Amino acid sequence: MTFDYAHQTDWPMTSGQHQSPIDIQTQHVQSSQLSAINWRGLYQAKTITGEATTLKASGIGAAYLNDRDFAFQQIHFHTPAEHLIDGQAAPIEWHLVHQSATGQLAVVAVFGRIGKPNSSLQGLLDQFTAQTSHELTTPVNLTELLPDTGTVYHYLGSLTTPPLSETVEWYVCADTVMIGEQQLAAYQQLFAANNRKIQPLNDRPIIAERF
Ligand SMILES: [Zn+2]
Repeated sequence: MTFDYAHQTDWPMTSGQHQSPIDIQTQHVQSSQLSAINWRGLYQAKTITGEATTLKASGIGAAYLNDRDFAFQQIHFHTPAEHLIDGQAAPIEWHLVHQSATGQLAVVAVFGRIGKPNSSLQGLLDQFTAQTSHELTTPVNLTELLPDTGTVYHYLGSLTTPPLSETVEWYVCADTVMIGEQQLAAYQQLFAANNRKIQPLNDRPIIAERF
């Protein structure tokens, strides 16, 4: 499916009260002692999938999210970030899409900040070929793209691309992960901006969980 980030109001949508992304206002979040994320085992990308708007790679990995079992499916990137924290946008956000055995979707959102180069991102950039799906010659270890501590903002929302289905548990990590300035520039050379506009929170709670 193709869609145009310059004409987002034309995107088809079947419902509309629980959409993503959102601006997370930290003074309004509710605290919880729940353990949001426990990474379990190695995250590894094995295939890069052809996409017009983003670098997407699928592979293996597993996590407990709110104490339930999820399998990692794919990672992809948005520049600039889609979610905001207190109105502030990071230069890049990546989505680690997970699914449970019963089909529940859960996405862990991670913000990048400019700092030292990220070897996991470099591994993906090195093996990227425009708009073709291919097995990676060398599987890419994704460990450096996973934060390992901090606060996670949990809420219920939607896919941020059509069909915008309201079927997603979101886990937005407050702690950022470093990527190199030249890596961000290389990524932006490949892809135009692909952030969906901020959506109304409506009556949804946002839970701050530990991690
Ligand atoms: Zn995404």
